Amino acid sequence: MFISRRSFLSKSAMLATLASLPSSLRSFGSAFQAQNFTPIRRGVGIFESRGGTIGWLVRPEALAVVDSQFPESAAVCLEGLKERSDRTMDLLINSHHHGDHTAGNAVLGADADHILAHANVPILQRRSAEKNNSVEAQKFADVTFEETWEESVGDENIKLSYFGPGHTSGDAIIHFQEANVVHMGDLVFNHRPAYIDLAAGASTRNWISILERAYKEFTDDTVFIYGHGNPTHGILGTRDDLLASADYFTALRKAVSDGIRDGKTTDEIAAKGLEGFDSFKVNGSADGIAGNLKTVFEEVTQTVE
Ligand SMILES: [Zn+2]
Repeated sequence: MFISRRSFLSKSAMLATLASLPSSLRSFGSAFQAQNFTPIRRGVGIFESRGGTIGWLVRPEALAVVDSQFPESAAVCLEGLKERSDRTMDLLINSHHHGDHTAGNAVLGADADHILAHANVPILQRRSAEKNNSVEAQKFADVTFEETWEESVGDENIKLSYFGPGHTSGDAIIHFQEANVVHMGDLVFNHRPAYIDLAAGASTRNWISILERAYKEFTDDTVFIYGHGNPTHGILGTRDDLLASADYFTALRKAVSDGIRDGKTTDEIAAKGLEGFDSFKVNGSADGIAGNLKTVFEEVTQTVE
């Protein structure tokens, strides 16, 4: 199946409508539940509410979910999944440890047979929770992997890969191989500034390699799910988006290294901004790009390369 331009547009229009509603109506209202579930292909789809995009697999003999948002939205998602499947959840996967992808684990994954993530995820999740005094509210992965994990769930084959540090030091790329749908977690902030979590081991240099490697590993037929996106480009797309993100990080790194060569301060580099990345501005603002330039400055000046 090809995700047409038309479906992107109608999706954007729907999101714009939702965004214009008062927050009391927008948040978790059951009237909007049906719209929150978007099928993609062969039983794989997405759920959108608050936080990173949830991916799901619903087949006669498989129920698997990627990410859990927050407890309130996880409850809405779980309710919708129960309408679509009688199964106990086979697997809840965490794409990485950030709270907008794991805070709903205890709700969405309450009855899941297993919670699966990269080996660094429970460590990073616990460290963040200790800082926020929220360890008790966490549910951690009980199965972890280092480089790859692959297993059949019903008639779908799920493969997770870790290509080294990117957005954090625990980002999994999750491939539903039969459907040929990939959940990229927050390795793609689709046409918008990224959160570069240096404290959790992020690396923009390796992030570029991850995106280029993923581009080669998948095909033009692969449908990609992104943790976050801008309203125009959305949270679904094709592998060309991966190169757009890689180009963005390459431009950030070049702007920073050129600035350092010319004796500029981090504020001067941030103020100069990036040329040619207007589609990455949020509501026309370059603030997010400036913030990313400052983070990359911090990254390259603190790292021995
Ligand atoms: Zn994240």
